[in-house]
Amino acid sequence: MDENNVNSRSLGDIYRMIYQYKECSRQEIANQLGISLPTVTQNLNKLRSLGYIYNAGNFQSTGGRKPTILRCVPDARCAMGIDITRNHLSIVLIDLDLNIIAGKRIRVPYEETTEYFNTISRETEEMIRNNVPDRSRLLGAGLSMPVIIGSDQKSVTYATVINASPNIYEKLASYIDVPILMFNDSNSAGLAESWRAHYTQPMVYLSLSSSVGGANMNNQNIYTGDNWRGCEFGHMTIVPHGKRCYCGRYGCLDAYCSSNVLSDFTGGDLKRFFTELETNKGLQNVFNQYMDHLAIAVNNLRMCYDCNIVLGGYVGAYMAEYIDTFRKKAVDLNPFEQDGSFIRVCHYRTEASAVGAAIHYINQFIQDF
Ligand SMILES: [Zn+2]
Repeated sequence: MDENNVNSRSLGDIYRMIYQYKECSRQEIANQLGISLPTVTQNLNKLRSLGYIYNAGNFQSTGGRKPTILRCVPDARCAMGIDITRNHLSIVLIDLDLNIIAGKRIRVPYEETTEYFNTISRETEEMIRNNVPDRSRLLGAGLSMPVIIGSDQKSVTYATVINASPNIYEKLASYIDVPILMFNDSNSAGLAESWRAHYTQPMVYLSLSSSVGGANMNNQNIYTGDNWRGCEFGHMTIVPHGKRCYCGRYGCLDAYCSSNVLSDFTGGDLKRFFTELETNKGLQNVFNQYMDHLAIAVNNLRMCYDCNIVLGGYVGAYMAEYIDTFRKKAVDLNPFEQDGSFIRVCHYRTEASAVGAAIHYINQFIQDF
């Protein structure tokens, strides 16, 4: 291998190390990667001149010269995430640090009409125009949808929550002027939560939105299963011959733990449900039953995966206040543990799926650097 190849490989390794560690010094890089200091310096100069890294002050020193802190430039690249749900469209732009640089959520029911596609086209273009001065920095747009996506990430293999046609990718691609790929909404949300929390351990994400889904992350990778239907937790049977699920079967988790189960009592308004919950005995009973069913699901997941379980989606965003009560319900079913701290509450409120779809492009950029 010639000197050039060694250097280009080092360049990527050095960039990835700074990205992963958030900040490090020249000496740390040399030690960790086993590259000589002069080569490290040469590569750092290149990364700096290309605008990928910057000097962020100095580390404290125990003596001698204080080492320079090296960090990645967060806005060297950005990615877009578009989350399509039955009634809403969420669009975010994130930088390499996964900060949301711009975000918008609008109420617009999903329908495959020119008007709907025009709305997507207009909103994405406007966000790019206002926030990305140099368009070449935009890596792509990940589209998250409540459907099951084929392994090509362009075809829809199952859709009931929204009525997405199998060739929806072609239609959307012609209205969005950046490279796009499609993702399952729960998988995307799980990916976002996992990256945000720096989970290197396995994690299960349980999405409690207008439908129930989930994801299993292992070392920040998504478990897909043989048919890309892994972790469709919403259709685990938790009550034999129970309530009818939208899938046509009976007793599925979705029928007991979707956000609608709660918001149906407050005119479809989940925020109002949790506001009125404090004083309304009826709603307290509803929520109590909801948590009882959710506890069964969470305990089943804990038995299967033996890892942290993050409650996400619309309901997960409200769970922080009730987490002690809920943990108690879940561990009461658990033969091995009394400590429910493995049950976590999500970080993102409504943007998790959009952020996760965008992260795909960030991840690809870092890996291919
Ligand atoms: Zn079902």
